[in-house]
Formats: sequence, C-alpha cells, structure tokens
Amino acid sequence: MKKKKLFSLVLATVLTAATVLPCYGASTKEKISNAQAEQAAAQSQLDSIQSRIDELNSKKGQSEEYLSELNQQLDDLQNRLQELQDQYDAKQNELVQIQADLEDAKAKEEEQYEAMKLRIQYMYENSSGNGYMAMLFSSKSISELISRAEYIQKISDFDRDLMQEYEDTVNQVKEKETQVQEEQAAIVELQQQSSDQQEAIQELYAAAYQELRTYSAELDDAKSSESALVDEINSKADAINDLIRQAKEEEIAAQKKAEEEAAAAAAAQQAAAEAEAEAARKQAAEAEAARVAAAEAANAAAKADTDTSSSSGSSSSDSSASSTTTESPSASDTSSSSSSGTYLGRFKLTGYCSCSICTGQWSGGSTASGTTPTAGRTIAMGGVPFGTKLMINGQVYTVEDRGTAYGHVDIFCSSHSEALSFGVQYADVYQLS
Ligand SMILES: [Zn+2]
Repeated sequence: MKKKKLFSLVLATVLTAATVLPCYGASTKEKISNAQAEQAAAQSQLDSIQSRIDELNSKKGQSEEYLSELNQQLDDLQNRLQELQDQYDAKQNELVQIQADLEDAKAKEEEQYEAMKLRIQYMYENSSGNGYMAMLFSSKSISELISRAEYIQKISDFDRDLMQEYEDTVNQVKEKETQVQEEQAAIVELQQQSSDQQEAIQELYAAAYQELRTYSAELDDAKSSESALVDEINSKADAINDLIRQAKEEEIAAQKKAEEEAAAAAAAQQAAAEAEAEAARKQAAEAEAARVAAAEAANAAAKADTDTSSSSGSSSSDSSASSTTTESPSASDTSSSSSSGTYLGRFKLTGYCSCSICTGQWSGGSTASGTTPTAGRTIAMGGVPFGTKLMINGQVYTVEDRGTAYGHVDIFCSSHSEALSFGVQYADVYQLS
C-alpha cells in the first residue's frame, strides 16, 4: 500500500534521522549519515534520469506521430500516383482509338477523293461525246435542259460537300489527337510532381526514423540506469535500516552497562556501610565486655561482703539491629523479560490511514505484504520482516506495511482524523518471538 512512497520517504528519513536519533555511537551514526548521503546522491541521479526518461518518451511520441503523419502522406501520394497512372492509361487507350479513327477518316477521304477524280475524269473524257454536254444538249426541252444542268450541278456540289466533310472529319480527329496528347503530357507532369514529392517525403521519413531509433536506444540506456539506481537505493535503504537497528542495539547495551555500573557502585557503597556498621558493633561489644568485666569484678568484691547480688545479665548485648542486609532492587531489569519480548528501544510513532493523503494512488488497496490493513493490528516499519509482532503500549501489532525506516512505526488507523490526532508519539517497543 505504501510501497510507492519509498523514494520520497527515504529522503525524509535522510533529513530527519540525524535529529531523531541523537544518542547513537559515533561510528555507527557516521556510517548511517554516510549511507544516507550516498543514498541521497543516488536518488538525485535517479530523479534526473527519470526526468530524462520523461523527456525521451515525449520526444519519442512526437517522432512516432510525425512518422505516422509522413506515412499517411506517402500513402496518399501512392494513391495519387496510381490515379494518375490510370488516367494516363485511359488517355493512351483514347489515343489508340483516335489514331484508328484518323486512319479510317483519312482512308474515307482518300476513297472519296479517288472517286471524285474518276467522275471528273469521266466527265471530261466524255465531254466531247456523250458526256455531260451531250446529256445537256440532248435535252428535248428547255425545262429538261435546266433540270439536267441542275442535276450536274448537284453532283459536283455533292462531291465537293462530301470531300469537305471528309476533310473536316480528318481535321477534327487530328485536333482531338492533339488535345489528348496535351492532356497526357499534363498527366505526365503531375506524375513527375507527385514522384518528386514522394521522394522528398521518403527522405524526411528516413531521417525521422533514424531519430526515433536514436531516442529508443537512449531510452533503453536510461531505463537500465534507472533500474540500477533503484536497486542501489533499495539496498542502501536496507543497509541504513540495519545500521539504525545496530545503533539502537548499541544504545540499549550502553544503557544496560550504565545501569550495571550504577548497581555495582551502589553495592560497593552498601558493603562499605555494612563494614562500618560492623566495626561500630564490634567496638560497642568490646566496650560492653569491658563494662561487664568491671561489674563482675565489683560483684566479686561485693560478694565477698554480701552474696545477695543478682547478676544483671547483659541481655542487651545483641542490640546490633542494623544487620538487615537490604537486597539491592535489581533495577536493571530492562533486558529481555520473556513476558514482554525483546526490547528494541524507544521508537517514534505516527498514524496513517488508507486515504489518498496518507497513501496516494495506493489508497484503499492492500498493504505492501498483501493483507487488508486493519486498525489495531497493521503497522508499517522497514528493517524487519513482514509478520513481525511488536508490543507497543501493551498492544500487539503486526508489521504488514512499508514506508518508514526502522525505528519509526507508522500505525494504521481506521480514519484520517484518527491518524491526524495520533500525532507524533514515542514509546518503548518490544519484539515478540
Ligand atoms: Zn489518511
């Protein structure tokens, strides 16, 4: 659930650890700050690699978009060229037809010309005999003559018109041929233009494709650097957790040693006091013995006179009451008492919940160990395996989540307001076996 917070949190750890953990052994503390500095350096490298990856991804995307645009243009041009080729072929077919028509028209013109020549030749050859003239002048009446003259006129008119018609047809077909040839030339020019354009776009495409390959290669490099840095940062985080735990253990050992030394000093003081008391008692006993001896001597002297004196027994001789050797209260009981588990130290405590403020995009999901986070049971802390049971303020919790370093327990709460009001606390933490 809180896995994604790793990178920002390790930085937070780097910034706060020095102030949170003030009483560690100097060398371990130094190792921790060295490891944290290395981790921070790797993190800043990672940040710049990641922004480079973003940049490359965006460039790569633009490049791909451009390529697909060029590809579309090439497709369009290919279609255009195909269209032009079809038009050219159609014109070519038209020209073949026109040439056939032209041959036809020329042949008809030729044929008509030959026929006309024959008729004219016939007319002239027979003009002296029974030709047109004879036909004219053999008319039996004026009206017949006029009619025959009109007939001759009509024949020559017909020949001339027909001749003209054939000639016109030939000219029209030739015009049509010229027009189609011009159209075809225009098509060829368009083909050339499209082809040039195609070539230019193919060059752009090749350059863009090369660029895309460069971006891809660079991206691959950046990604492998990224994954190496993530590994490095994670292993540094593990090392830092180990060092913090070591520092805690050193702190506890030092505390225990100090307590033992205090107890030893107290015992020595006690022994000295006892010796003094013993000496005083001895002195008192000696004085008493001397007093008794003196009294006995006096008694003996008195007995010699009267034998009635009763011995005043020195019953109070056992008055050395100070012999009660008070057991030193074993205050150094902070070591592993089997009922409350192994003492880990005084840890920082905070609260979190499953909302997006506390867990970002992972909100509402399961914990980093895959369990459903549950208030009163789920806690987060690095440096110990999932499932580790910790006793805090008399309550047993289970480490199921990540996000804080060893020495800082994040306690899962059922609501954000609860997590907020929990604030920052400190408590003794015991690990249960
Ligand atoms: Zn919350």
